[in-house]
Amino acid sequence: MARYDFDLFVIGGGSGGVRAGRVAAGLGKKVAVAEEYRFGGTCVIRGCVPKKLFVYASQFPEHFADAAGYGWTVPEASFDWPTLIANKDREIGRLSGIYQQGVEKAGGTAIHSRATLVDAHTVHIENENRTVTADQILIATGGRPNPHAALPGHEYCIFSNEVFDLPELPKSIVIAGGGYIAVEFANIFHGLGVETTLIYRGKEILGRFDMDMRRTLHAAMEKKGIRVLCHTIFEEIQKNDDGRLAAIVTGGEVLVADQVMLAIGRIPNTEDLGLENVGVEIGVKGEILVDALSRTNVDNIWAIGDVTDRVQLTPVAIHEAMCFVETAFKDNPTEPDLDCIATAVFSQPEIGTVGLSEDEAAKRFAALEIYRASFRPMRNVMANRDDRMLAKLVVDADTRLVLGAHILGPDAGEMAQLLGISLKAGLTKDDFDRTMAVHPTIAEELVTMYKPSYLIRDGERIETA
Ligand code: NDP
Repeated sequence: MARYDFDLFVIGGGSGGVRAGRVAAGLGKKVAVAEEYRFGGTCVIRGCVPKKLFVYASQFPEHFADAAGYGWTVPEASFDWPTLIANKDREIGRLSGIYQQGVEKAGGTAIHSRATLVDAHTVHIENENRTVTADQILIATGGRPNPHAALPGHEYCIFSNEVFDLPELPKSIVIAGGGYIAVEFANIFHGLGVETTLIYRGKEILGRFDMDMRRTLHAAMEKKGIRVLCHTIFEEIQKNDDGRLAAIVTGGEVLVADQVMLAIGRIPNTEDLGLENVGVEIGVKGEILVDALSRTNVDNIWAIGDVTDRVQLTPVAIHEAMCFVETAFKDNPTEPDLDCIATAVFSQPEIGTVGLSEDEAAKRFAALEIYRASFRPMRNVMANRDDRMLAKLVVDADTRLVLGAHILGPDAGEMAQLLGISLKAGLTKDDFDRTMAVHPTIAEELVTMYKPSYLIRDGERIETA
């Protein structure tokens, strides 16, 4: 008789947990995946997927406006928020089903319940009030928005969870944060016709990205009509008698809006999981501490994805899941490779990026060549739209290695995926130069920037002749 009920018990049915469970089950392992809410986790249910659908919805007004330059007369358009929500719900319902079926079709058991640790090999399934045992346990419980409990009136705010199911589209919104979520939602709401203000505590939105991209996006957002206030934080949120919210910000200005959204980072879901019953160590933010193989300090307990607070991205959680299966079930210890991750911000215009920013590269390399092109995409000219595209390559002058590639403009995210392969493969600027352009495209600019726009020597910018 088997020593345990399961070879693997996964707590959390998001992108990482489902992938690990499905692949392990496919290897013939006896697997259960427990999910307390809906299979699919943050990405599918209240993250990347519905966000992208909202991005598409918010882009239509610009498409309608651009159409005139191409000879189209578009009748006055109107937008129905409940239709968007209902169609989005249908789509995520479909995807959630696919996630659950993925586990089941591979031979695993999908359990709809919260699950907590009793001891190193025992899990309590709350909805069924029973315990099961497992040889290996994987924690993939993800994270949730930081509630900003220290902010007076934070209870009036919405977060990236509620934003997907608001009963009605607000007429005005103030969003706090300068990261992916705040910037993406500022653009979504503005595109949907909402009067939008973004407030950020730092000097420039999107810390960690290339400064050129940050400044250019900031300027583009303001030009569209989004109010962006840097060096600004909320002091207090109050509810007015008419139900609207008054956000008091640094300096005393009061921003009145229908909704106030906080997007100031996410915190790991590690409370009440029974970690203390087993002695699994957590860090200062509550994240589960793991070694390079995603193993906790307890030998048979592992953790992947946002709950470990390494890099909070869906593809990272999926990659960590694949490495975990290699390590735990294929006798092939595999460390997740988190170097050179391509990523996109689905702002409008979009940012796609991979590798080092100019500033980061300048700290690490003595001599850089910066190739930079700013131009108006062909499509925008006849549309009479001013939005410009920005493409930038950061190159190590000594080895010719392309260290960073940054793009702002239409489909920048799609381009970042392909550039990610080039940078991961360690291609040089000469390889880019040898590559034939695809014409006419926006992306051809990436292989046609022959002369550096400027140089960086020991951190100093040097103009080229
Ligand atoms: P981010 O870490 O991207 O940004 C958090 C922002 O909140 C930063 O601008 C930060 O400022 C600011 N902040 C933090 N604490 C405070 C505070 N106390 N008061 C005011 N501002 C504060 O987090 P998000 O919430 O935007 O997104 C969470 C994660 O989800 C991201 O790490 C990202 O990896 C992932 N995500 C990815 C997406 C994508 O790939 N397109 C889309 C959406 C989310 P500062 O810069 O000064 O630290």
